Order: sequence, then structure tokens, then C-alpha cells
Amino acid sequence: QKNDKGHYTVPIIEGDGIGPEISEAVKEIYRAAKVPIDWLPVDVTPRLINGKTSIPSETIEAINKHKIALKGPLATPVGKGHVSLNLTLRRTFNLFANVRPCKSIKGYKTPYDNVDTVLIRENTEGEYSGIEHTVVPGVVQSIKLITRGASERVCRYAFEHARNTGKSKVLVVHKATVMKLGDGLFLEAALAVAKDYPDISVHTELIDNTCLKMVTDPSPYQEYVMVMPNLYGDIMSDLCSGLIGGLGLTPSGNMGVETSIFEAVHGSAPDIAGKGVANPTALLLSSVMMLQHMGLSSHADKIENAVLTTLASGPENITRDLRGSASTKHFTEQVISRL
Ligand code: ATP
Ligand code: MG
Repeated sequence: QKNDKGHYTVPIIEGDGIGPEISEAVKEIYRAAKVPIDWLPVDVTPRLINGKTSIPSETIEAINKHKIALKGPLATPVGKGHVSLNLTLRRTFNLFANVRPCKSIKGYKTPYDNVDTVLIRENTEGEYSGIEHTVVPGVVQSIKLITRGASERVCRYAFEHARNTGKSKVLVVHKATVMKLGDGLFLEAALAVAKDYPDISVHTELIDNTCLKMVTDPSPYQEYVMVMPNLYGDIMSDLCSGLIGGLGLTPSGNMGVETSIFEAVHGSAPDIAGKGVANPTALLLSSVMMLQHMGLSSHADKIENAVLTTLASGPENITRDLRGSASTKHFTEQVISRL
């Protein structure tokens, strides 16, 4: 919904570590590109309410109202009895599907130049259920929770995504040979949902086999939308990210029923925070996914092209994580000059 200036209001969580630096780069580029967005900085400093980690209610209201947010990386405070803030956000806004595309950047050389994968990660349960206990000293039980409801919902999202992006195959990645009941249920849910999509073929593959084949030759995976339980998605998406040049490049969208939050896949990178050398590309490309989701596709294309051509323009214009020498500021100026 537009505000009275004819702009869209988008809550922004700048985040920790390199978060403020890369958020500033995004804002500068959006200003220069005249994107009709007014950023609304929101605070997600966690509070313990009745022993449960929560974020400020003004923030929850703002994100629910605008149905969208852009988010920098958040560090999880250690030893304060908090669960991960990222997990809290996913639960608060019921962001059940995490979409993670990885596409080779033309002109930036990596071992493969034909990576073009889309991975959809179940975002609410699985190994991240947070249910763990000590049975007797030296013996711990960690519960991987799989429900038919959450499995069907994320698989349905994957089929819809395939349909909307012109892909004709969905690949369900699992380990049901070992986790017969848990992954078995995920697989069963996927095959049930597939019946509603006769135009899209469904395929299944064991996670270890997907890893092996992906690093041997990623090109066959271009045809698929991959969908998988939470932890497999976490690991597999880092693997795909490594194939195109690393975490500094890969965007993601956390999709809910009504609300979505777009964020870089990487963490707060405390080792380089405050040094002015962080790569803002992942957050920028996440914001491009957000613009597309909002229907602002001409602005999305303009910014995406400027980012991609900058990345291809030589080591003096790209950041150190990509074996370049540019500062965040220099990279940002280069993107602006190519808008
Ligand atoms: P967190 O605890 O928040 O997950 P982390 O220590 O795991 O932080 P990550 O952010 O996951 O760190 O990053 C892992 C490595 O990749 C770090 O060495 C970091 O410097 C580098 N890295 C991650 N993102 C970027 C980026 N945008 N630009 C440059 N380097 C990055
Ligand atoms: Mg990390």
C-alpha cells in the first residue's frame, strides 16, 4: 500500500555486525535509483516476556501492517536465555518458506559458470524445533519435528514457485532411507501435493547424492525448483553459494502467508564489522527479490543490472571476499554509476 507521498513504506532491520554498513549501501543506491520506498527503521532488540523471547510490539505491528521488511544479519545474544532472533522472527510472522536462489555472475570467474539453482527450505520445524533434552548424563536427545501440515505447505509453495517462474520440475531432497518416518512424511506430503500440479513433474533425490552431483556438475539443476527440510536447506544452500563465489553474493526471501522478510543468507560477520570492507551484494540482491515481490520490477531490473555489471567490472571494483580490493563505499559508488 502506498503512503500519501505515493511511496511504499518498508520496515528495515539494519542488523548487527556488518548490518549497518551494508544497509547504508542499499539505502544510498535506492536513493540514487529513485526507488519509491520510504525506509522505516525498526528495532528488534529482544525482550524476555514470560520466559519467551519476543521482539518489541511496535516492530511486530509495523511489519504486519506493511507486510514486508528488509533485514540485515542479526547476531544471537549468547547466554541470556534467548532463542535465536532469526528463529523468533520466522515464528512471529509465520515465515514458512525460505527461497534461496544462486546464479553464476557473468564476468566473475568461479569453477562453474552455469550455476542457476533455486532452493526452498522449510523454515519452521525439522532439526530447528529447539526440542532437546538430556536423558541421562552423557546422553542427549534432539527432536527433529516433521509435520504433514508444514511439509505440505512448503511443498505447495515450491510447486507454485515452479509454475510462476516457468520451471517444469520440482526436486524433493531428503534422506527417507534413514529417517523413514520423518523424512518419509515430508516425501509423502510432497508427492500428495504434486497431484495438484499435473503440469509439473516431481522428482526425489537423497541429500548426499544431490551434494555429490551438484559439485560434480551443477547444470542439470537449472531445470528444478528444489525443496527440502530445514537443516538440509541450510547446508545445501551454503554449498550452492560456494559454487558462485560465496556468502557475500546470495540473497533470500522468508515467505509467509501475508508477510515476507527479505535478507542476506550470511551472518553478521563480526570479523570484518566496522572496517568498511563488507560486500553489500547479498543484501542488495535480497532487496531486488523484494522489489520483484512488490511488483516494482523495472526498479528491480535496474538495480540488479547495475550490481551484476559492477561485479563483472574487475577486482578494483569488488570487495575482498571476492578477491577484489574495493571498500564497501567504492563498490556502492560503482553500482550507482551504472544505474
Ligand atoms: P554469525 O554468528 O552472525 O552467523 P559468523 O561468524 O557465522 O556470524 P558469517 O556472517 O556467517 O559469520 O560469515 C562467515 C564468513 O564469511 C566470515 O569470515 C565473514 O567475514 C564472511 N562474510 C559473510 N558475509 C560477508 C559479506 N557480506 N561480505 C564480506 N564477507 C562476508
Ligand atoms: Mg554464520
